Amino acid sequence: MRLLLVEDDELIGDGLQVGLTQAGYRVDWVTDGSHADQALQNEGFDLLVLDLGLPGEDGMAVLAKLRRRGDALPVLILTARDTVSDRVQGLDGGADDYLVKPFNLDELTARLRAIQRRRDGGRADPLIRHGDLELDPAAKRVTLAGAPVELTARELAILEALLVRIGKVQSRERLEEALYGWDEGVESNAIEVYIHHLRKKLGKDLIRTLRGVGYMIPQED
Ligand code: CA
Repeated sequence: MRLLLVEDDELIGDGLQVGLTQAGYRVDWVTDGSHADQALQNEGFDLLVLDLGLPGEDGMAVLAKLRRRGDALPVLILTARDTVSDRVQGLDGGADDYLVKPFNLDELTARLRAIQRRRDGGRADPLIRHGDLELDPAAKRVTLAGAPVELTARELAILEALLVRIGKVQSRERLEEALYGWDEGVESNAIEVYIHHLRKKLGKDLIRTLRGVGYMIPQED
């Protein structure tokens, strides 16, 4: 899952980048509203963690523009603004959740998983299930017919990206974005290699290749 973090406080931003990366997100971090705007228009993200008090453009303005573009990206506001009217404005302005600083990292990541679940077609079950395959996004664990399967962090990220958009084709570029932040280079055949490993570990028929288009996990009948 690729996450855009918008936070102007260096100390908080740094802590969040480390913590969210450890929680399995690919984190890109910007420190003001106009860079956030640019990134949101030009890159594909799965989640946005948005501070409100930012130099230049305010976080609420970034959110308003995002929603005016018709972008349904899940958004969690993370801010020191703690009045009821702030929260109401944030949620009515299009945020999916609102968390007040100081915050607890475990609560933040649990809330991110919850809003992601709601966006994935209202999935209430915290586990992602497909046939006898189960992925636990919180524990970063995969089982096949009840037996644990050892996956690398990147294999797991690809599998999760495919499973949460089941039945929909994901281009190689989209999967690369789920996998890498801006700082990391992408080897040209990396996705093919991870897909190959996933098929070896989980069965060759799980992931379908649509030549020249991308990859998908078909819906079960
Ligand atoms: Ca701030």
